[in-house]
Amino acid sequence: MDLRALLGLKALDEVGSALFVQPHPDDNEVGAGGTMAKLAAKGCRVVSVTVTDGRYGAMGGTEPEALARRRQAELEAACKALGVREHIEFGFEDLGSYAEEDVVARLIPVLLELRPEVVVTVDPWTPYEAHPDHLKVGRAVAQCAVRLASLTVPQGSPPYVPRMFAFYASAFANTAVDVTDHWAYKIQAIEAHRSQFDTPEWPALKAYFEYEARQAAERWLGNAGNGRLAEAFKLLSPRQLHFFPQAMSS
Ligand SMILES: [Zn+2]
Repeated sequence: MDLRALLGLKALDEVGSALFVQPHPDDNEVGAGGTMAKLAAKGCRVVSVTVTDGRYGAMGGTEPEALARRRQAELEAACKALGVREHIEFGFEDLGSYAEEDVVARLIPVLLELRPEVVVTVDPWTPYEAHPDHLKVGRAVAQCAVRLASLTVPQGSPPYVPRMFAFYASAFANTAVDVTDHWAYKIQAIEAHRSQFDTPEWPALKAYFEYEARQAAERWLGNAGNGRLAEAFKLLSPRQLHFFPQAMSS
């Protein structure tokens, strides 16, 4: 049975509108920057949402308020590098005590206004993921599938639920996007986050990202993936986000 066709799933790089939701400034870029650049270049409406201000994303004596301001400027530069013109910041405190429900409450109006075909975020079900912002944000995005399909969210006609959800940094990826031609923009966007990546480790990390992207291309793109670079995702229909144990292996 072609479950993907049955569930109305299509290739991630063929959507006309996409919302990318990241816990911190830089997660989208690392997880899906090539896909964002590819979609933006194709004329897809790409909107980025950043949930927290990233104020605690450093060690040492940095002042949190100053780091949050710096990261905001870095984020703007990263969006520019990817060709992403629309960006929303929720401004929750990094590692703060906000709840998953608080993120849902902010996301629902954004979704209803923009009506993206796909919502992309970090996978909160990847084993060993320990960061509370990643867990809360990933789950909040997925919860929107349930909320939008219920009477808790009054809707006009036609009612809206995103057609697809895609999760990056997933241990259960089931697809990949060829981003070879947009890899340089992804790297440029990551490097715009100087507070995070202007470090002695960056050259090794960059090489690792590229190695991972080659592996993803070989695994998911078949023969066409040889020598290419890809970003892997777990792509699910909203139906698979509730009472659907096979989602993990789909
Ligand atoms: Zn993060």
